[in-house]
Amino acid sequence: MPKKVETLVLHDSSTPVFGDIQKGGSVVVTSSGTLLDIVNQARAHALWPLTFGLACCAIEMMSTVASRFDLARFGSEAFRATPRQADVMIIAGRLSKKMAPVLRQIYDQMPEPKWVISMGACASSGGVYNNYAIVQGADQVVPVDVYVPGCPPSPDALMYGIIKLQNKIKQQSMKSTRQLKILEVIPSQQEKVNA
Ligand code: SF4
Repeated sequence: MPKKVETLVLHDSSTPVFGDIQKGGSVVVTSSGTLLDIVNQARAHALWPLTFGLACCAIEMMSTVASRFDLARFGSEAFRATPRQADVMIIAGRLSKKMAPVLRQIYDQMPEPKWVISMGACASSGGVYNNYAIVQGADQVVPVDVYVPGCPPSPDALMYGIIKLQNKIKQQSMKSTRQLKILEVIPSQQEKVNA
């Protein structure tokens, strides 16, 4: 059984994120939360996204961290340019079959625990690009946690997706593992010969 946490000061914050009592800018946990609740809470509110802009959706993704929308309010503004420092991959734009192995390799280089947001119709389903060059859904290459619909999704929509991901992380157990299922990444040797 996980240990019960009676009282714990998490950090200085103007916004209570856990528990129901706030004193002097500190968040105080007084409910019967578990250690796992706190770990998940910390993970959910300190997401470091990996920049993976592939097409027009990336412009909207960039807007979320600018002053108008200010993703920093949700603790997820620290976009990283290396997978080793990131824990959530935002796939923003159409994913070509040529790029798919690269995306998979970068995903594999991210440390656990890690999550994936598929941003836009193209990343989620191929969108208007129903052709031989575009992967018809990024979930054929990496496990996707949250799909953000739209063409392009607005920055608000991406932020809503991040909030949904935060809620999902808060429900995770320590033992949760991923069942990877790769359906289509690299064309077979026969396809290469025929091309
Ligand atoms: S969903 Fe629309 S905006 Fe996003 S990459 Fe596709 S065409 Fe561009």
